[in-house]
Amino acid sequence: MKIGVLSDIHANLVALEAVLASLGSVDALWVCGDTVGYGPEPSDVLALLRERGAVIVAGNHDRAVATGEDLELFNEPAALAVLAHQRWLSAEERDALAALPRTLEASDVTLCHGSLRDPLWEYVTSERAAAASLALARTSHCCAGHTHVPALFPASGERIGHVRYGDPYPLGARAFFNPGSVGQPRDGDARAAYALVDLAGGTLTFHRSSYAIEKTQVAMRERSLPQILADRLAFGL
Ligand code: ZN
Repeated sequence: MKIGVLSDIHANLVALEAVLASLGSVDALWVCGDTVGYGPEPSDVLALLRERGAVIVAGNHDRAVATGEDLELFNEPAALAVLAHQRWLSAEERDALAALPRTLEASDVTLCHGSLRDPLWEYVTSERAAAASLALARTSHCCAGHTHVPALFPASGERIGHVRYGDPYPLGARAFFNPGSVGQPRDGDARAAYALVDLAGGTLTFHRSSYAIEKTQVAMRERSLPQILADRLAFGL
């Protein structure tokens, strides 16, 4: 079973389309939250994921757009984008976001946005934090987003932070992993990030896809989103 694992799409339709094209045919599509927030096309991204039958958990931006939850914790440009998305989305679209679960078990992997200790907000960047989530999981593996940086934390070993692309890693008996961000990478590489899991083979492969960043930036300016959110896409930061 081959699964495309995406996270932090952040309403960047051009990046999502590039990732889906390079992913090709998969048995399932998992999304670790923050489908909306920051970007120009929240409706189109939600519609495309629905059309693809994606399995999706809630991120902090999804909750803020759907219900206003924790909006006071956002910095100003992020909060302005949340408020814009609240205006752009229909009541039905906001209800669909509000209904997303915070954690979800799919095959032998638990999906969440941040961590299993704090599904919306914890940034897992250490072996210790990854181990704490795995201790709470009923599945062998745990997958999250939120940091916008691809990483693999094997339960028995050190964090693999600067991942290699296109060459599979063994998942081992237990692992915590993060596919990176489709729509707003923050590791200094502006290309869209995603991962492919092969559960039968027990492997995880990280990938990057180039996309027409300037198209997303133009759409963001046209929709009057904060300039800094468009600018940062060019730097992957
Ligand atoms: Zn995010």
